[in-house]
Parts: sequence; structure tokens; C-alpha cells
Amino acid sequence: MSGSAVTPWVVGNWKMNPMQAEAKELVSGLKELLKNNPIKEEDCYLGVAPTMLALSAIQADFSSATRVIYTVAQNVSIIEGTGAYTGEVSAQLLQDQQIKFVLIGHSERREIFSENTPILNQKVKHALAADLTVIYCVGESLQQRENGQAEQVVLQQICDIASVVQAEQWQKIVIAYEPIWAIGTGKTASPEDAQAMHAKIREGLTQITPFGAQIAILYGGSVKPENAVELAACPDINGALVGGASLNAESFYKIAQAFAHTK
Ligand code: PEP
Repeated sequence: MSGSAVTPWVVGNWKMNPMQAEAKELVSGLKELLKNNPIKEEDCYLGVAPTMLALSAIQADFSSATRVIYTVAQNVSIIEGTGAYTGEVSAQLLQDQQIKFVLIGHSERREIFSENTPILNQKVKHALAADLTVIYCVGESLQQRENGQAEQVVLQQICDIASVVQAEQWQKIVIAYEPIWAIGTGKTASPEDAQAMHAKIREGLTQITPFGAQIAILYGGSVKPENAVELAACPDINGALVGGASLNAESFYKIAQAFAHTK
């Protein structure tokens, strides 16, 4: 089944970058590009995920943009509500700051911070309970791909959250397929391989939920202006989660343009 009717999303994951002055420049550069050459909201949703520290400031900076650019949290606590949990930021605290989106399951969180299925499920559950939209990242390692396990690993990661996502809540899920070997390495999955995995994810989602055909499935892994057009042309690739290239306003803008043109 093709997911081409889905409005694309382009989301920049700034990770532990940049310093304040560069972030200001990045935001004003992007606002300027969007003002001079608008990308319609209905053609492509846009979001950026700055550090927790900068979330509110960046959100305020974008409030004067000529179109909506969502601010996305890179992480959320496994603990709900408020309380004595030093260093944590709960889904309710994000909601209280009008943050409506959160990344969960990024491979850097899974690998460096040992976030396993029970932890990720708690995060997804609390985020959805606080009415956040979850951009849930999945992806296989190089070894898993070479062993022919890529599809099984990715579909299992999606099935993992099925126990905590209630029927109607699938409308608040965006999937980001990010083969781990393609993140920050300059290697991109070929459009054919990426499309093949996205089609499998789409098939899996339609078996899990009646909303399966409407869920945006983003591709992530060294997306840049040079490969965005080809990726955007794939019917089941509904946008991109962009790391490195999102730290440059023009590159991020060009990637957004590539996906907007598919509409
Ligand atoms: C990411 O970390 O989500 C990512 C896709 O990074 P990059 O674009 O730098 O590979």
C-alpha cells in the first residue's frame, strides 16, 4: 500500500548542538528562507529538535516565523508528572511548555544510554498520555542488516510499542526509520532499500492499526540536499529526520523543499 497521501514531515535533530549564538543564526536563517520562498504547511510539516535547554527559547524565536515550525523535544523522562527526580523532564512538563512532539527510541538513546524496550515503552506511554505526538525511531545495525535480520528487527521495534499505544493514539505516532549504520556516517540507504523497508513498515502498521495508512514514515540517516530528491520520490518515504544537515539553514530548507515538491 502506498503512503503517498500522507503529508510529509521534515524534522531537524540538532542533538547536543549548537551553541546559543549559532542556534539564533540557524533559526533566523531558516525563517528568512521560508519568508522569501515559502513552503506551504499543507505541503510539508517542519520541526526542529533543539537541546532541552534551548527548547523554549527556540520555540519563542520561531513564533515570529511566517509559517509554523514545530519545536520537538529530543527526550522525555520515564517518570510522569512532577517530583524529586533530579535532572529529569517529564511529558507533563513538556506539555506545560506547549511542546507537542518528542523523539523516542533514537539509536543514540538506545545504544549510549541503554534505553531498552521497557524504558522506551514507559516513555511512549507517558508522552501519549500527555497528548504529545511521538516520533518513534527504529532501525537495524550493520551487523543485523548483513545477517538478513533488518526487517525482523525493525518490525519487532514497532510491535514493541503496540502494547502501550491505545487504538486512537496511533494517530499521534510518527515513525522514523533510521538504519544505524547510516546515521552520521555519510552512508545513506539506497532509495530502493529505504523504500523497501518503508513499504514493509507500512504493511506492518496496517496490520496493527486502522490508522496504518495515514502514519508518516520518515527516513533518517545522512539525509542531505544531494540525496533528498531521490528519497522524497519514494512512495512510502513521507519525510526525513535530519541530523547533521539540519545544522545548516540552507541544507535543511532544501531538504524540506524536496519533500514539499512531492505533494
Ligand atoms: C539522526 O541522528 O537522526 C540522523 C539521521 O543523523 P544524520 O542525518 O546526521 O545521519
